[in-house]
Amino acid sequence: MTQSPEEKRINCEVYFDKKGYALIWKNGKDNKVYILEFEKYIYHKKLKGYDIHHTDFNKGNYKIENLEIITKSDHLKLHANWVRKDGEWILKPCKDCKKKLPLDNFYQRKGLTLRAMGKILGGKHPQSVSNLIKKRNSKIL
Ligand SMILES: [Zn+2]
Repeated sequence: MTQSPEEKRINCEVYFDKKGYALIWKNGKDNKVYILEFEKYIYHKKLKGYDIHHTDFNKGNYKIENLEIITKSDHLKLHANWVRKDGEWILKPCKDCKKKLPLDNFYQRKGLTLRAMGKILGGKHPQSVSNLIKKRNSKIL
């Protein structure tokens, strides 16, 4: 006989929420099982700036092998289908064409090449380099 989620909750068995997270009733509230599993291994309840990621992207799979600590920032990128190679993010999907493109396509570099600086200065008396870079960046932003 299969139990309803409500019965499973009462019997302290694992059930799933609408998002697919495995839950269990404990201490008078619903608990995400992957967090409880993780806390068996890690003492910190909440590592600031970090998330727990389901490596196989299945929120119901709370096996400890499937859980990894990841920075919040990396976590967002991972779920936004960014591509990482040798620990560095190299590609992300374009909102318009949906293709995965190199990050350079989205973000202008904020440094100045010497050649570019020479062009801007154009032989005039140079301002301080840091002012120049600030000015240039404020045009981009
Ligand atoms: Zn995740």
